[in-house]
Formats: sequence, structure tokens, C-alpha cells
Amino acid sequence: MAPPPAAARSVVVIGGGFVGRCCAWLLSRRGHEVQLIDGGQPAGVRGGSEAALGLLMADVYRRRSGRGWRLRQHSLALLEQWQGLLAAAGQPVELRRGLLLLAHDGDDWQRQQALVCRSGASGPPLELRTASALEGLEPALPRGALGGIWSPRDGQLDPSRWGEALECDGRAHGLNLQHEPVEHLEPAPGPSGRWRIRMAGGAQLSADKIVVAAGLGSAPLLETLGIELPLEPVLGQALELELAASTPELWPGSLVWRGINLVPRPQRRLWIGATLEPGESASPDALTNLANLQGDAPTWLRQASTVRQWQGLRVRPVGQPAPVLIEPRPGLLVSTGHYRNGILLAPASAAWVAEQIEA
Ligand SMILES: Cc1cc2nc3c(=O)[nH]c(=O)nc-3n(C[C@H](O)[C@H](O)[C@H](O)COP(=O)(O)OP(=O)(O)OC[C@H]3O[C@@H](n4cnc5c(N)ncnc54)[C@H](O)[C@@H]3O)c2cc1C
Repeated sequence: MAPPPAAARSVVVIGGGFVGRCCAWLLSRRGHEVQLIDGGQPAGVRGGSEAALGLLMADVYRRRSGRGWRLRQHSLALLEQWQGLLAAAGQPVELRRGLLLLAHDGDDWQRQQALVCRSGASGPPLELRTASALEGLEPALPRGALGGIWSPRDGQLDPSRWGEALECDGRAHGLNLQHEPVEHLEPAPGPSGRWRIRMAGGAQLSADKIVVAAGLGSAPLLETLGIELPLEPVLGQALELELAASTPELWPGSLVWRGINLVPRPQRRLWIGATLEPGESASPDALTNLANLQGDAPTWLRQASTVRQWQGLRVRPVGQPAPVLIEPRPGLLVSTGHYRNGILLAPASAAWVAEQIEA
């Protein structure tokens, strides 16, 4: 990590999801004076970070250039660096490497072969696995897999453990955490260029810079300044299964089948989560489809019992690419719209915020 900037800034980060935490932690580590404010979700709603499975899909991304590719690669490198920093600070966190992206039809399989070919010798270390090579894997894969890509650098992290470690280490570097919704933002009067924040309880704060990383709460906050940012909620559901004692030990990495993520967990547990579901209310049919992998679940998976199920909402930007990383007013930074891959993209988004603050 680069040395602290010559001019430390006072910064308020609004939103304590994974995106806000990464941002607040990085800024504290870089010597800024940071307040992280999280208002909590309305009753019955989980934010994206509380629901996320933590899959990291950077090298298997379908493109090899452009903003999405650069952000993913930057994040993957940062996660490794941050893991080292957190471990050295007594906050060990895991990066469980290895991801198998399965092909479910001929077009998908062709795309995968083209992707590995395009990656070439200098690209990410992706390996093609044919259907016959996958047949021997235990326990059996979803029915009908035509092949897949094995990506040794992609994988999974536990968002809640990482969030906790970032918070603890951030506190050791001066990070201050407050639990109260922010209600209003405005430029401070006079020429200082500072910002003023009003909390729901009426208290006021001021800071040199504001970072809005409030997921679903981002658009209403920006509206108080007359800034329109169209965002729509996107639902995702997940399950934790307990596997029968006879099930062989799960594969060494995570698995993706038709947009459904399967994450092996300790003690014969498995997380299964879908990335996208229309609307804001969870559909029981979508959950059933998830549990049986759209009808392709192998026998051992059908025999597993559900120990927990949950859902979460995150926001998708309308009419612009995700994530939204903008500075709509001097000193007001927005890092939101992480509706997919938000856990993966959070470190690169935090790096962007730090760059703007120190520019
Ligand atoms: C089921 C599911 C599985 C997923 N799996 C993955 C995955 O495997 N890999 C991956 O990379 N991504 C995954 N995602 C996506 C990921 O969860 C999101 O992209 C990411 O969590 C978004 O984080 P965030 O910090 O922007 O938002 P959030 O987690 O929603 O956090 C926003 C925070 O802002 C706070 N807030 C809102 N308004 C205010 C206010 N006015 N004042 C103060 N605080 C406020 C809220 O309390 C909340 O804590 C998944 C999502 C779901 C639903």
C-alpha cells in the first residue's frame, strides 16, 4: 500500500455494506480521518452484502479488455494484497481459490473454448475441462455439463468475515463507525468546499469529502441534492444445505452452473445462490429451481436438507454500466450500483475513491 498522502482529509463514508467498508478501510489505512456511517436496512430487507456468497469471477469474465475487465483484474490483485496486510495486522482472512464454470449447452461450450483461446499464454491461467474429464469428479456434477473452464485464481471469500476484519483493522487505524441513517447532504455554507451531513436523529457532521456507498439508500440521498441517479432493486436468493453423511467431500473450489453458484462450506455444508431474480419479492418457485438446479441436481444434492435460506436486494443502475463510480459535485463521490459481483468489485471501487480523494 502506498504511503499516507501528505494532506489527510476528513471523509464520511455513507453505507457499511462491503463496498462502503472496503472504501472506509482503505482510506483509514492511507491516513485519512474516516467516519463510516451505516443506517441499517428497513425491517425484513437484507442488503446485498449480508446476502452475498462471495464468489470472485474475474479471470472467467467474458471480455479481455474494457472497464469491467480492468476493474475485475485490479480487484483480484488488491484482494491478495489486502489479505497479506490483514494477516500481518492479526486479522487473517481466507481467499478460497479455484472456480469451475460449467457449460450447459453447445453455444456456452463454444464461448468457453473461444475465451480460453483468446486468453493465450500471457492471459489468466484458464484450463478447459472436457465432459469426460469432469465425469470422474466426486460428488457428481449437475446433469448435462458439456465441459467447463477451471480457473485457479478465481474463487470465493466469506463476505462477513472479511467485513469484520476490515472493520477491526480500520478501527486500529482510526476508523470511526456510527450506526444511524443519514438523512440529508448539503455543501457547507461559505467557500470551504466542505460538506454537511444531517443524521436521522438531527445530529450534524461535516467533512472535506463524502462517499455515498449506500446501495438501495444511495438514490434517495442524492435526491436531497437534486441529483437524479436511476437505480432499480434486484433480488437474489440463497440456501445453505447440509449434505448427507454418505456424500463424498465436495470439490476443491466453487462451481457455477446456469448462473447458479455453489460454494462448498466447512462441515458438509453447501451454499447455493442465484445471481438475478426479477422484482423485489422472493418467489418460492425460484427457490425450488435453485435447490434442484433447474432440474439438473444430481442425487446427492436432492438428498441434502435445507438449514437456512435468505434473500438480498442490491441496486442496478438504469441506463449506465455497473458499477457507478462518479463525482457529481466536487468532493461528493458516489460508489454504488454494484448489483452483481459487488464483493469482487469493491476493492477496485475503493481504490478509485481513494484516487479521487488524493487527486
Ligand atoms: C443472494 C445474493 C448473492 C450474491 N452473491 C455474490 C457473489 O457471490 N459475489 C459477488 O461479488 N457479489 C454477490 N452478490 C452481489 C453483492 O452482494 C452486491 O453487489 C454487494 O453486496 C453490494 O454491496 P453494497 O455495499 O454496495 O450494498 P449493500 O450491501 O446493500 O450496503 C449498503 C449499506 O448502506 C446502508 N445505508 C443505506 N442507506 C443509508 C443511509 N441513508 N444512511 C446510512 N446508511 C445507509 C445500508 O444499511 C447498507 O448496510 C450477491 C447478492 C445477493 C443478493
